[in-house]
Amino acid sequence: MVKNDLIYELEKECLSGRSIPIDHMEVEKESLRRVPAFIKEKDYQQLMLIVDKNTKEAAGNKLMEYLKEAKIDVEVMVLPEDRHGHAIANEETMMQVFVHTSPSVDCFLAVGSGTIHDITRFVSSKMKVPFISIPTAASVDGFTSRGAPIILQGVKKTVQTSNPVAVFADLNVLKEAPRKMTAAGFGDMIGKVTSILDWNISYLIGGEPYNELAANITRQALEKCVEHIDELERNEEHGIEVLMEALIQSGLVMLVLDYSRPASGGEHHLSHYWEMDLLKKDEKQLLHGAKVGVATAIISDLYKMYLQEPALLALTDHPEWKERLLEFGTTIQEQVEQIPDSDEIKGWLQKAGGPVDPKEMGISEELVQASLNEAYHLRDRCTGLKLINVSTQTDIVYPI
Ligand SMILES: [Zn+2]
Repeated sequence: MVKNDLIYELEKECLSGRSIPIDHMEVEKESLRRVPAFIKEKDYQQLMLIVDKNTKEAAGNKLMEYLKEAKIDVEVMVLPEDRHGHAIANEETMMQVFVHTSPSVDCFLAVGSGTIHDITRFVSSKMKVPFISIPTAASVDGFTSRGAPIILQGVKKTVQTSNPVAVFADLNVLKEAPRKMTAAGFGDMIGKVTSILDWNISYLIGGEPYNELAANITRQALEKCVEHIDELERNEEHGIEVLMEALIQSGLVMLVLDYSRPASGGEHHLSHYWEMDLLKKDEKQLLHGAKVGVATAIISDLYKMYLQEPALLALTDHPEWKERLLEFGTTIQEQVEQIPDSDEIKGWLQKAGGPVDPKEMGISEELVQASLNEAYHLRDRCTGLKLINVSTQTDIVYPI
């Protein structure tokens, strides 16, 4: 079940009686077939389906067929591609969607992976029109969240937009997705190994907001994915179902809390840093989750090396952190010891069929080293990465 009891509990705890504004969620075979009934129930009259060339083939055409059978009017927008063959969530693409969308459209259908969802959720939120999420790959945990990472004037920014009104994740479609997309979704989940730890550090040391139940839900989702890694390795339906449900659950936790802390720590900061570098150089973008998975192994090495005795960190310019570190150092040390080491993380990534180190993705050691020393500036969060950076006199050297 996508929305499990713990998520209901989290809603109760955090939303004072309200529930997540998503009317329907399913991860099942033949989910596409049930989209028309939902549209009729909601009485949407004028639909706009957003796809790219690949996702049109993967699910868009079939969905259009079902909508046509149900006599539902739908227009289609095939997103333009950059010179690397990717749809990009930037001003140009979004402007094109605005230009092609009739003012009478009353619901969007995002048919694709993360980027197509980001473009759709941005436009739908600006037009104050709902959208339905139809993931074509279990590739990222952002389907249900409100944050849309978009590129504005060449710089990536996360803009708060809106969540989908429904999610129809068709297992038949997800199973046919390219292996590297599913591996990227697994990488995004593996990122929780260090993001949950970082969240606890930001709470214990930085005094930032924290929620034990949310941390537990995210941890359970992660553990379930790891338990089912063999099925994922064989691209079995159940493995993909478990992964997709975990990704949605991680996204729901962010949606309830209205921040991304449980799902994004130092590993995401490294990944963002690499992404910005590729963007500057106009090089081909890499899958979000692929970068996150690889970065998780690096952060694990870093923390196991520098946070063995957290109380020893200098933190000269942050006396209030130092004080808390003296109090909670042992707790953090124990948590660092408990996270899997880089070899174990790489073993899982390899089984999932994704890259295991930066070299495999074409990311240089220099860039990794630069990110280890600079990426903590990207977010104002008290992560382990930040504690290490503000304590060390010399640069962190990579390989660690
Ligand atoms: Zn992520």
